[in-house]
Amino acid sequence: MPSALDGMSSLAIVTSGVGPKAGVVMQSDKPGIDPQWSSLSSLSKDVINCTRCALSETRTNAVPGEGSDFPGILFIGEGPGHNEDQQGKPFVGRSGALLDELLALVPLRREDVYITNVVKCRPPDNRDPLPDEVRACWPYLEAQIQLLKPRVIATLGRHSLMRFFPNARISSSHGQVMNWRDGIVVFPLYHPAAGLRSTKLKEALKEDILKLPQAMIAALDSERASQARPTSQPEPDPSPEDDSTDHRKGQMGLL
Ligand code: SF4
Repeated sequence: MPSALDGMSSLAIVTSGVGPKAGVVMQSDKPGIDPQWSSLSSLSKDVINCTRCALSETRTNAVPGEGSDFPGILFIGEGPGHNEDQQGKPFVGRSGALLDELLALVPLRREDVYITNVVKCRPPDNRDPLPDEVRACWPYLEAQIQLLKPRVIATLGRHSLMRFFPNARISSSHGQVMNWRDGIVVFPLYHPAAGLRSTKLKEALKEDILKLPQAMIAALDSERASQARPTSQPEPDPSPEDDSTDHRKGQMGLL
């Protein structure tokens, strides 16, 4: 079967940090996660019952996210829309159909990746989530990243990208590989809803998604480089469930 690696002439440009962080952004230093979230299922259960912010009062269903437990690639949108709120699932409706179409180009299926949002409950009238709401929901996304251990975080849309790189511009960053932390790279994409509104952006989405294998390779290179760096800290004891080697093999197999 043809692979998206076919015809690849060079690796993606690996850009580094883009300036000081401001506002509500993901921490580049890995914080600890709540020990009660030892699994995705316990975390999702808490999301479904969460009342940490005012969005709980207007939602129909919270949308924790769904997909593979070992995804390699984590897609993050900004927040659920109407269809997602109704069904409790991320990226359904027309945007979800376009995301499925894009994944099939690589080729990947929804079950091969994990899909979630920065905030897990729909902001009324699809407004941008407020800083307080993002802050309240932040621990869930942080815990998801630590539990899922993705190599690539594909941000969907400008707002999601800005949570990781607040000074980045989606118009110049889309389809580029940006180093984040722990060998994880951020791979910005336009939001599928933008692709539905503009043929030009839909074409850009198609071109960018074909670079996902390059992003994965860049992530593995970045991880190797971070492991090779001397450290003054003793290495933590390997966890019994640390299966990162097999995990990475699986991720490359997906592509
Ligand atoms: S948006 Fe997040 S913090 Fe707010 S109620 Fe929903 S799950 Fe809880």
